Amino acid sequence: MRVAMIGTGYVGLVTGACLADFGHVVTCVDKDPAKIESLLAGRMPIYEPGLEQLVARNVREKRLSFSTDLAPAVKDAAVVFLAVGTPSRRGDGHADLSYVYGAVREIAAAIEGFTVVVTKSTVPVGTGDEVERLIREIRPDADIAVVSNPEFLREGAAIEDFKRPDRIVVGVEDERARTVMAEVYRPLHLNQGPLLFTQRRTSEMIKYAANAFLATKITFINEIADLCEKAGADVQEVARGIGLDNRIGAKFLHAGPGYGGSCFPKDTLALLRTGQEYGAPLRVVEAVVGVNDARKSSMARKIIAALEGNVAGKTVALLGLTFKPNTDDMRESPSIPIVYALQDKGAHVRAYDPQGMEEARKVLVDVDYRDSAYDCLEGADVAVIVTEWDEFRALDLERVKELLKQPVIVDLRNIYRLDEMARHGFRYESIGRAAAAP
Ligand code: NAD
Repeated sequence: MRVAMIGTGYVGLVTGACLADFGHVVTCVDKDPAKIESLLAGRMPIYEPGLEQLVARNVREKRLSFSTDLAPAVKDAAVVFLAVGTPSRRGDGHADLSYVYGAVREIAAAIEGFTVVVTKSTVPVGTGDEVERLIREIRPDADIAVVSNPEFLREGAAIEDFKRPDRIVVGVEDERARTVMAEVYRPLHLNQGPLLFTQRRTSEMIKYAANAFLATKITFINEIADLCEKAGADVQEVARGIGLDNRIGAKFLHAGPGYGGSCFPKDTLALLRTGQEYGAPLRVVEAVVGVNDARKSSMARKIIAALEGNVAGKTVALLGLTFKPNTDDMRESPSIPIVYALQDKGAHVRAYDPQGMEEARKVLVDVDYRDSAYDCLEGADVAVIVTEWDEFRALDLERVKELLKQPVIVDLRNIYRLDEMARHGFRYESIGRAAAAP
């Protein structure tokens, strides 16, 4: 089947490459010429494990191509996926749908023959109706069906998630389009990937409800962590203790510096706005957004407290900057407000991240970027573990101790054991666990 993927960002590139790997013939389109040029030269615009090989294989086997030219790709396609960004609209937190509607106008002009237009971008309930209305207004003659097919992949494990999803949600109200979508995902379905067909509006809602629920789980355990710290309990054991209950589940119960990334912050806000629009306020989600925002400054305060309340003129070494490991994505990373807060109090901030420094340089200036964890730690007053990259999980603690000006570690990801840190003589502050005495 011929597929056009409009938008070759994180989701578009991974989806396009995986669909090509299933045997479909996919053209990934992007309006950013630099991105397409780099893909044509075999360079990935993002860091995602396994992506480069997957793309190379499917380009070589002529199932995957890249272009800045939308019209020919759409003209030939039976299915056109929309995978453009839907960031927060400046000022009010609504999803900014200008990229979606911009792409839809271009698609409408190029459609030939029966075409299924699939919204993979995360869009508020009712957007599919507007996409359909717009296409019919521009091209009353076009034979189309508009489908919602939200994406649930996680950055850092995107290919695995796409190829072995918990479910594929397809919001479709047209029989022909339903058959086409079943064909698109047939290889996954054969692999037991459950296809859930719903009404289009329901499918749009599922995506936001899923993200808001996961953000709630994270925020819940973060607040429990704060209580554990004060009450002398261990949040990791609490998480294990509740997570073993099947009704709760163990995932998304890792206490940390608060959620970030390209999805949860903007999607929770957009869902709140939708709730307000429909007169159905979502108070739980509202609390989650507020608590998560406040958490960033409380993390900065935690670091400052580890330096006896004063960071002015001190050097803070951050290990990790991306919002999670195995990605170079810096969008809404908790590291950003933490760095600002520390700099605001006069700290010199140093940082090392295995993949994220190029992206970080675009948003965090006045940071002294270093090439390795140990280089970053040399002479620093405190080490702060911000992102749980594997390479920070087994640091040579004796060397760390020698390099630091004083043996103080603040671990915002709980990747070390309290007794281990005490044994090495560190002052070790983590999340939701009583500080270990050196
Ligand atoms: P992104 O910003 O990485 O990529 C979007 C791409 O679309 C950009 O390269 C941009 O140049 C391109 N684009 C915009 N308008 C275009 C047009 N008219 N024609 C061609 N290309 C155009 O975004 P992303 O992270 O891939 O997210 C895309 C959507 O998927 C969003 O709605 C997001 O919420 C959703 N989503 C993202 C993730 C994730 O982990 N990143 C996961 C699930 C869902």
